[in-house]
Order: sequence, then C-alpha cells, then structure tokens
Amino acid sequence: MRKLALHWKIIIALLVGIIWSMVAGGFFGGMQTGTIDGPFETVEAFNEESGDSQSYFLVTIDYSQENLSKVKFFDSNKKVISVLESSWAGNNPLSKKAHFKLPQRTYKHAQVMYAYKGSFLNGLTSFTSDWVNPFGTIFIRLLKFIAIPLVLFSIIAGVSSLSDISKLGRMGAKTLGIYLITTVFAVTIGLVLVNLIKPGELMGEREREKNRVRYELWASDNGKEIVGNQDFLSDPRKRELLIEVKSETSSNKKDISKYESRKENSKSGGPLQPLVDVIPENVIKSLLEGKMLQVIFFAIFFGITMAILPKERMKGIQSFVDGVGDIFVKMVDIIMKAAPFFVFCLMAGLMTQMAGSPQELIGMFASLGWYSMTVLIGLFLMIFIFYPSIMLILTKKKLTYGGFFKRISPAQFLAFSTSSSAATLPVTIECVEERIGVDKKIASFVLPIGATVNMDGTSLYQAVAVIFLAQIHMIDLSFGTQLTIVGMATLASIGSAAVPSAGLVMLMIVLESIGLNPAWIAIIMPVDRILDMCRTVVNVTGDATVATVIASTEGELNVVSDEELEKLDSEDLEVTN
Ligand code: ASP
Repeated sequence: MRKLALHWKIIIALLVGIIWSMVAGGFFGGMQTGTIDGPFETVEAFNEESGDSQSYFLVTIDYSQENLSKVKFFDSNKKVISVLESSWAGNNPLSKKAHFKLPQRTYKHAQVMYAYKGSFLNGLTSFTSDWVNPFGTIFIRLLKFIAIPLVLFSIIAGVSSLSDISKLGRMGAKTLGIYLITTVFAVTIGLVLVNLIKPGELMGEREREKNRVRYELWASDNGKEIVGNQDFLSDPRKRELLIEVKSETSSNKKDISKYESRKENSKSGGPLQPLVDVIPENVIKSLLEGKMLQVIFFAIFFGITMAILPKERMKGIQSFVDGVGDIFVKMVDIIMKAAPFFVFCLMAGLMTQMAGSPQELIGMFASLGWYSMTVLIGLFLMIFIFYPSIMLILTKKKLTYGGFFKRISPAQFLAFSTSSSAATLPVTIECVEERIGVDKKIASFVLPIGATVNMDGTSLYQAVAVIFLAQIHMIDLSFGTQLTIVGMATLASIGSAAVPSAGLVMLMIVLESIGLNPAWIAIIMPVDRILDMCRTVVNVTGDATVATVIASTEGELNVVSDEELEKLDSEDLEVTN
C-alpha cells in the first residue's frame, strides 16, 4: 500500500487535534446550567483608574457535586457574559465553594445563572491537559533544544568549507537586503489593506466616540499630545459620553502585565544597540540562553577562522563539526517521523486558550472580525501570491507553484501548531535542504538569520493592528505617521523573538512610538493566538522562499524531483553502517 505523504499525515493530525480540543472545550455543547438565587453579599472594590469604589456581588457556587472547571455567567437576558468580566475571588477546597466577584451593573437581579462542564466533558478536559498536552510541550522542547546546536554546527561546517570567503560577504548582504525588502513590502501590504478596508470604522459610531474619549483622557493623564483636531473632552455635546466613560468599572480590563514585563525586556539602548547585541559577551552564556544572533555571529567567525587556517591542521575539527552537524540533522528527521502525533497533541490542548463555545467565538469575531479578516487577507496574499511569484520569477521556474508548497508544507504546519519560528527552525532547515534541494551551506546560513530577523507576517500584522486601533479610537493618522509605522513595524518585527505572542509584545512599542496607548493590545488579545499561528506560517514561508531564491542566484539550487520526494516520504528509519 502506498504510504501517505508526511504533510497529509500532519494535516489529518492537525484537524483531528482541533476537533478534539473543541469537544473537550465544550464547543459542541455538554455544558450544564445552574442558577443561584440571591441576595448576594455586596463587596466594595477600589477602581484605581476612576478613583471610585465599585460594588460587586460576591457569588458563591457550591461545587461539591459539579465541576467548575469552566464557569460562564449570564446576564438577565440570558446572554453569556465573558468570564473575564467576573473575577475569581477565591476558592475554598475544604468547603468546596468557589467565589466570584460580579459587577453589580450587570447583575442587577438577585439571581445568577451559570453554566459548567458536565462530568464527561470535564474528564476529557483533564485527560487532555494531563495526558495529551504535555506531549505538545515535549515536542516544542525537542525541537528547541536541537535548534541551537544544529545552527552552530551547520553554520561552522558551511562557512569553513567555503573556498571563497568573499562569497560569504555577498551572500550575507543579499540575505539581509532581500529580508528587508520583503518585510517593508509586507508592512506596505498591511497598510494598504487596512486603509482600504478600514476595519476599525465598521464599529458602531457611539462605541468609537467613547473610545475617543478614553483615548483623550489617557493622553491628557499621561501628558501625550492628542492626535487629530477633535477635542471631545472640552466639547459640551460630548459631556454625557465623558460621564459614562468615567463611571466605567475596570472589571472588564484584561490583564496585560505579563506582556508589560516582556516589553520592558525588549527595550533597547541607543541606535547601535541591536548591533552590540549581536556580539556575545560570553559564548557559553549565549548558547545556554539560546541567543540565536550571537550564536550565528560566533559560528560565522569560527568558520571563517577555520577556513583561513591551513586545511591540514583543521582536518580533525572539520570532520568533527561535520559529523556532529549530521547527527543533529538526523535527530530532526527522527522527530519528524512522530510529528503527526505531536501536532495532534499540540492542537488538542489548544482550545483552553481560545473561546469555549460557538457563541463566544462568534462574539469574538463579531467585534474583531473585520480586523482579523484584514490581517488574514494580507497573510494570504503574502503566502499565495507574493512568495510564489518571487520564487517563480527569481528561480526561473525551477520549482512549480504546487511543488513549492508540497516541499515546504511540513514546516508550515509546524509553524501553525507551535506559533514559533524558532521551534520550527530545525524542520524549516530540513525541508529547505532535503525537500527543496537548497545547498546546505546556504540553508544553514540564511534560515537561522531569517528565523530571528525576518518576520513578514508579524510586520504586516503590526501595521494592520496599529491602524485598526487608531481607527476605533477615531484617530486619523497622517501619511507621515504611517511612514513611521513602516519603519517601526519593520524594526519591531526584526526585534521580535521567534516565540508565541512576541509580535503582540513588540506592538506595544510600535504604539508607544507614535504616541498611542500600549495597553490597547488588550483589545485585540482575544484573537491574537489564532492570528499568531497564521503569521508564524508566513514568517517561516518567507524564510524558506528567500533561502531558495538566494540558492538559485548562487547556482546552489538542485530541486529535488517528485520521485525523490515520494521516496523520502515513504522512507522508514534505517540504520546506516
Ligand atoms: N510567533 C511569531 C514567530 O515565532 C512571532 C510573532 O509574531 O508573535 O514567528
């Protein structure tokens, strides 16, 4: 029987994993409901922002019979209220009681309805988190621990075997140049789309006006210049809005503190700081901390020095480096045989991070739908039009449109399921070398740099996100500011780490740089995970495209034939002597 190609196995695993996570997440029903009658105890909580004290009902749910792993609350119209609006006020395992603080403005009635997971679903959820999810984490760890030594040894092996060092300089300049061009192109596509579609303006007028008031309040509190000629704060007609906004509770504010601390870490010093950061202070530390650019710098320097020294004296180390590099490549190969299983585990554990019901999902997309669509259209254009076109043109049609996707798809699916170009890197290298046919020297040099600095999907998304956030706050950004965004989003995508949500963290810096409120990332957070998965696919595809193009222009592209590819897919592990 003909074996199923790897990418098909991964697609199937991915879909089964998504369906599994939806079942376990209560997406297809299986939630049971309960009601609790008041009167509830009232507690006061201080709202730091408005300086007022807010009243909450303290609702206690007895969970001796039920399992409260997922609780939702309903308002008096039986509409689900985001769980985030209620805050978890504690849990007493001895009495088996869970306490929630619910804003009184929503729960005017003395009865609260809630839904919780039935026992079957709950069993499935805990089985997934205890027994399935950890394999997803194991997979990411396996790939991550291979990435650094793989990059180290393959760059040293590649660079030291170059007979002509000037070729390295040319390749380096070409790599950085093309990466920069694709990134600027991606930001531009993002800007054009968001200005054409105007997703932010599709939000209700009143909500936008309220947002504008919130923005002006924030700007005046923080001493920022207010963008645009409107001035709602001193406009008597907007007085009512101002009162409404001021009386808001902070209960529906999402917690962005974990992103704040990540942002602080990524702030740089002077203009040359990025260059300084490429040079390791201590190589062992760079290796331990996984500082990819520092490892690349060290490997290139080491390789060049090896190439300068007499070949005779380098023989031993050369074969050592080649040998160790081969071992890591083979390790990726071995792990990839189990990739469908691991991808299933990753996807099965996913739903806990997303919406838990069709209503929530629809609700999420209703408000952020146009924004998400704009990002997705941009990413789609990059993947299906931009990359294949430059591939076909610059490689002089050595690869067909479908052939390119067939070869690169395992890396794309992995990027989608891990949301991390760094974790995907070993597989990207394998796909580009063994499935496309790019010479090792080129792939091992161009791809690791790309995983760190080339994030076209991320930069496109940042451009869309900034303008969308400005639009929903009724802020018209001038052409000059939009140009600043091109520069900032390009730099931010270069500076983003190749890990999940890195783009969201850097978005705070882009917002700050043009005088907008970085806390607005909370608005787009609900859909960020899914967009992160998609933009990571673009990031990885961009790296693979550029590696292939550079190999072709250097005469180092020997496209793997379809027959060879089929053989590769059906190969079982064999021990070679
Ligand atoms: N997750 C992305 C990556 O690793 C970065 C981002 O946009 O958040 O490529």
